[in-house]
Amino acid sequence: MAISFNEVLASNARILNAKASKVSMQAVIVAVVAVVAATLLVSFTESHAITLDGIMNSQRSNFVLWILDALPFIFGYIGQYASYVMSQEASLMVLEQTEELRQYANRMEKQAAFSATHDPLTELPNRALFYDRLEQAIRADYSQRGMLAVLLLSIDNLKEIQDTLGPDNTDLLVKQLATRLASWSDSEDSVAHIDSHNFAILLGGCGDRAVAETAARNLIKAIEPHFIVNAFKLTLHPSIGIVMAPEHGDDADTLLQRAGVAAYSAGKSISGYSVYSPTMDEHSPRRLTLMGELKRALERDELQLYYQPKIDLASNSVIGVEALVRWPHMEHGFIPPEEFIGLAERTRMIRPLSQWVLERAFQTCADWHQAGRALIVSVNLSTKDLHDPELPDQIAGIAAKTGLLPEWIVFEITEGSIMVDPLRVLAIVERLRGMGFQLSIDDFGTGYSSLSYLKKLPVSELKIDKSFVMDMLASESDAVIVRATVDLAHNLGLKVTAEGIENPEALEMLKRFGCDIGQGFLFAQPMPMAELEAWLSAWPLASTGARPAAFFDPALQRSTGLGAARPSA
Ligand code: C2E
Ligand code: MG
Ligand code: MG
Repeated sequence: MAISFNEVLASNARILNAKASKVSMQAVIVAVVAVVAATLLVSFTESHAITLDGIMNSQRSNFVLWILDALPFIFGYIGQYASYVMSQEASLMVLEQTEELRQYANRMEKQAAFSATHDPLTELPNRALFYDRLEQAIRADYSQRGMLAVLLLSIDNLKEIQDTLGPDNTDLLVKQLATRLASWSDSEDSVAHIDSHNFAILLGGCGDRAVAETAARNLIKAIEPHFIVNAFKLTLHPSIGIVMAPEHGDDADTLLQRAGVAAYSAGKSISGYSVYSPTMDEHSPRRLTLMGELKRALERDELQLYYQPKIDLASNSVIGVEALVRWPHMEHGFIPPEEFIGLAERTRMIRPLSQWVLERAFQTCADWHQAGRALIVSVNLSTKDLHDPELPDQIAGIAAKTGLLPEWIVFEITEGSIMVDPLRVLAIVERLRGMGFQLSIDDFGTGYSSLSYLKKLPVSELKIDKSFVMDMLASESDAVIVRATVDLAHNLGLKVTAEGIENPEALEMLKRFGCDIGQGFLFAQPMPMAELEAWLSAWPLASTGARPAAFFDPALQRSTGLGAARPSA
């Protein structure tokens, strides 16, 4: 049963009162003793003996004793009064502090709930909250008000601005845009920042598409006036994709995906907006249908994981493999990962896709180590993966399930994905490193990366992008970039891998530059497991320095978390 504030107050007051009363009683006793002693002293001084008559006379005639006689009563009264007041005040103080603490805890709770559902940069609802609201609106609006519309606002030149002015200025710009959008919208809760260059706007109870189109024109007008960021005058190029529910879909995934198709088409239109139409499928027939098919392919386990060997250039032996996902499609043949990963990233398919890749790659790696084959497996993480705060726990779970030691895995993250939101990525990357996984920067040289972030990232490898490696024989500037990257990596204490080695001349040049690891068609193309097994049998294995499988202790792993699973041996 809950105790009320008044009860707490009364009980605190009683305790303090009892303590203070004890002190005042002691004062009364001291005063009584003083009265008795003074009376005896006066009586003895006046009659040179202590008799009852002498005491009575002293009490009757000596007015100083009268004052003294009053002292115990005065002390008793003041003591009681003071103890009462003090106990009330102290009790109130405790209650005030308790209330303050309670308010503080409430504030923190609200803040935590807010950050889970809002984008920290713009403070607008994030993708998860928008999906949730959209699903709710779909259910409510069908039964009550008919159609609803979703406007997907994509800023076409944001990447260009980021590449030119850097992430800090881009953040300032996105914040200004968010403020403009929130002020433009009737209900600020219906605007969400769903990823770096996309905002989504929900128009509930939208009678027909003409209303949505008017809203889109209006929105373009709102974005037209230039933004000022650090004295730069910037104009944004928006493309707006419009979808209507239930006409274009009755779930958030389909609607957002189709809004993306419409926004893509809007990018090429003069008006800057497009309402989704199935005829747009003709412009991007694969893009549109692939999404649903990818979901099915995953469910039916139709994806495959290929492996491309990584060679230690000094010893000419295999140090590990990179896992690369493949989608053999009945109609379109092999679909390149870049195409379907980008697509999966735009909806929520990337998480199950990454889960599938991680499970496969970890299992293969653990099996190899159990069989005494100490190969390091590199796994690519996408931009969306690196913004998913649940990724490290997901990875920890798969590692424990498959019997994998984190040091057998290198996660490859691209320069571009780091720079979208460096602080957020840094937090996730540090957790992975803390668990014991190794990290590598993939496609190095292709993005805008700042050396200061590079220094902060707990990576152990740089992978020079294949575009430089493939062109370095013909282009002197590419050769200079490759050599400079090797030197930079070594100065930072990192290993360097060159991908895209296609001929012996390139290999020789890389060896001269001091590159550590090579990967490319010269050695092997990415291969399915069976082919890789045959290929591996013809190559010596490099020593990786990683601990063998015997060190995997599932009980320790479960009880201590991955990073702590190192035995003391
Ligand atoms: P990446 O991680 O930079 O992978 C290297 C790409 O270069 C692979 O393309 C590989 O087949 C190709 N490659 C390697 N050596 C050579 C060479 O000598 N010449 C040429 N021309 N190409 C070479 P792939 O498999 O098409 O993958 C493309 C990208 O897709 C990957 O680039 C990676 O960013 C992404 N990707 C692949 N698998 C996954 C995955 O499982 N998850 C995620 N998130 N991304 C993946
Ligand atoms: Mg890679
Ligand atoms: Mg690469």
